[in-house]
Amino acid sequence: MKKNKQQLDDLINIMKKAGFLNDNKVEAAIRKIPREEFVPTSLKERAYEDTPLSIMKDQTISQPSVVSRMTEWLDIKEGQKILEIGTGSGWQTAILSYLVGHGMIYSIERHSELAEFAKKNLDKLGIKNVKVILGDGSSGFSEESPFDRIIVTAGCKKIPDALLEQLSEDALLIAPVGKFQQSLVLLKKKDHEIVEIKNQPGYVFVPFLGKSAEEK
Ligand code: SAH
Repeated sequence: MKKNKQQLDDLINIMKKAGFLNDNKVEAAIRKIPREEFVPTSLKERAYEDTPLSIMKDQTISQPSVVSRMTEWLDIKEGQKILEIGTGSGWQTAILSYLVGHGMIYSIERHSELAEFAKKNLDKLGIKNVKVILGDGSSGFSEESPFDRIIVTAGCKKIPDALLEQLSEDALLIAPVGKFQQSLVLLKKKDHEIVEIKNQPGYVFVPFLGKSAEEK
């Protein structure tokens, strides 16, 4: 336990020095949600390395510094309703759930094994404000739209129009966009238009698959 605390402190320091962690609330969330609970038992020793780790179905738990950056850019407020596409292990989901407080996270995952893994991990921590949905997230989740924030956690060639349509006014969407390498793109809906706020190249994500994602 003590060892984990030291490893977590070291990880936090690395992310701060590299400029990936600047926000106190995001730091509190990363400290609160134990990453070791979201990786397979055989990889627990490596849970606090700043690297993606294999989970199952050829997918990975995201790299901590990338989760931190995406979470900071999303500028989450208490009480918000968030749509996440690509639950994976549920670690990013749990961080979002901590930050929205009494708000709600809807998270869609296309692999049933991962949706079950994530649900189990979230249950273990007693997290109640998350609904994990098994399915193709490329059409969003119209039943609960519009959303205050949308986060896509897999690299897409193009952001599906359905996701843009499910943003409320002043809402933000973040997604890694690109075929082999991705740019992190932050968009805002303003006066019914979509405006690009940030665009930073140099990331590599597992691919976003699904019906609407295949367009183009
Ligand atoms: N942030 C997660 C990792 C996400 S990896 C974590 O920290 O654990 C990206 C996830 O997106 C994978 O689990 C993959 O199966 C899922 N995915 C890819 N395309 C999808 C789609 N169209 N709908 C739902 N999930 C999708």
